[in-house]
Amino acid sequence: MTDTPTQLFIGGSWLDAADGATMPVDDPATGEIIARVADAGAKDARLAEAAAVQAQEEWARTAPRARSEILRRAYEIILERTDELAHLMTAEMGKPLTEARGEVAYAAEFFRWFSEEAVRIDGGGGILPDGRNRMLLSRRPVGPCLLITPWNFPLAMGTRKIGPAIAAGCTMILKPAPQTPLSSLALAAILKEAGLPDGVLNVVTTSRAGEVCEPLLRGGRIRKLSFTGSTNVGRLLLAQSAEAVVRTSMELGGNAPFVVFEDADLDKAVDGAMLAKMRNMGEACTAANRFFVHHSVAEEFGRRLAERMGALVVGPGTQDGVDVGPLIDRTGRAKVEELVADAVERGAQVLVGGRAPEGPGCFYPPTVLTDVDSGSRLMDTEIFGPVAAILTFDDEDEVIRRANDTPWGLVGYVFTEGLDRALRVSERLEVGMVGLNTGLVSNPAAPFGGVKQSGLGREGGRVGIDEFLEYQYLAVPVR
Ligand code: NAP
Repeated sequence: MTDTPTQLFIGGSWLDAADGATMPVDDPATGEIIARVADAGAKDARLAEAAAVQAQEEWARTAPRARSEILRRAYEIILERTDELAHLMTAEMGKPLTEARGEVAYAAEFFRWFSEEAVRIDGGGGILPDGRNRMLLSRRPVGPCLLITPWNFPLAMGTRKIGPAIAAGCTMILKPAPQTPLSSLALAAILKEAGLPDGVLNVVTTSRAGEVCEPLLRGGRIRKLSFTGSTNVGRLLLAQSAEAVVRTSMELGGNAPFVVFEDADLDKAVDGAMLAKMRNMGEACTAANRFFVHHSVAEEFGRRLAERMGALVVGPGTQDGVDVGPLIDRTGRAKVEELVADAVERGAQVLVGGRAPEGPGCFYPPTVLTDVDSGSRLMDTEIFGPVAAILTFDDEDEVIRRANDTPWGLVGYVFTEGLDRALRVSERLEVGMVGLNTGLVSNPAAPFGGVKQSGLGREGGRVGIDEFLEYQYLAVPVR
């Protein structure tokens, strides 16, 4: 980790913050500081903006094949350095090394996918209905972008935005979360090595998000904001983007329902629950937040899930055999503790877990709650921790109504062996994605995103690049 950059990456150079400020990065498994990185302020943001703006015109003219090959090279370098990147991510974020390796592969795949999409940007055209005019449609990069990412998938949330932006011919400023800046800086170094021209990607690490981002959004030179994070911050950034009419993509919070019908295959349902709940220690926007289980199978489902959750090994992500690492920080853990205490006060039974261990690190055990009251706070709050809250239901209409009774609509999970019911229920769920008899939906080749207050736009898939492109229509008379 000694070679990991800790400075700002602006215009292809590594720089200290203009005022010399730095911020600590700590290991959530121990609380120890593992690095200090540059802490950018408004002056650094202006510098990064100037670099992105200056690089834009030439980058837009660069051949799509050249952009594609840079992404492809970066994809290969990331995979070659899987172990190094996984250790870095585990150190700053806490997830077990096996999961971190999985994230490296997932993150790299966005670069491979968009290296393939970069050469398939098509326009179109033809004779207009009046027969007197032609149209020529071309697609152009939207312009310099601001990309803001959260801490929970430090590498993949970056590549999911950087990949399509590079493919489309946009320049960009990446502002990663302050808890996990090292993965983004390592990624910048890899892209530089892969041949990305100076100024195309700029990375500003900062603990002063508002001071850095607001002037960029209001200034009129940044043309696009792509944000992943909480709905509250997304709402604030949408308001800031309104002034200069900045285009926005918003990947926001979720409150995923996980529905198990009486005809479900319970082996599949429990496997799916383990994935949908425990991937990333439950710190995922796709994490199942509310388990609705048909009353006839609820007891068995709860017992089997509690057995599996109770067998997981909790500990530092670097230790062999560990399944569940620490939560990101003390605040994150305190929130989980409060939500569980509230549910228990309202009558929930704790089948397993439910109490944070003493000692250093932000650990919380896998927890299963049954008989959860629907008025509990965790019903309308993202738990963001390893806690499965089980409620029961009696019929299909009722469970759909309850599943949809939330301002969010990112993902839902449905477990049933009936084909008609599977399609009917999936279509009635107000969500952008459905896992049908599976607990995992994320895939770089599929459009990821939500409806309602879970966001605007999609990332990944064939449509992911559209978020970074504009149409230009050229009118040409037929002579
Ligand atoms: P967050 O508090 O909203 O922060 C996300 C990012 O926004 C961080 O980099 C944060 O930096 C920055 N930010 C906060 N206030 C800002 C401001 N005023 N101006 C500019 N940037 C600002 O979310 P988080 O706690 O890091 O991440 C968890 C959330 O992300 C959850 O709600 C989760 O569901 C969501 N998420 C969604 C998806 C998806 O694809 N839909 C994927 C992953 C995560 P600071 O920390 O310095 O404020």
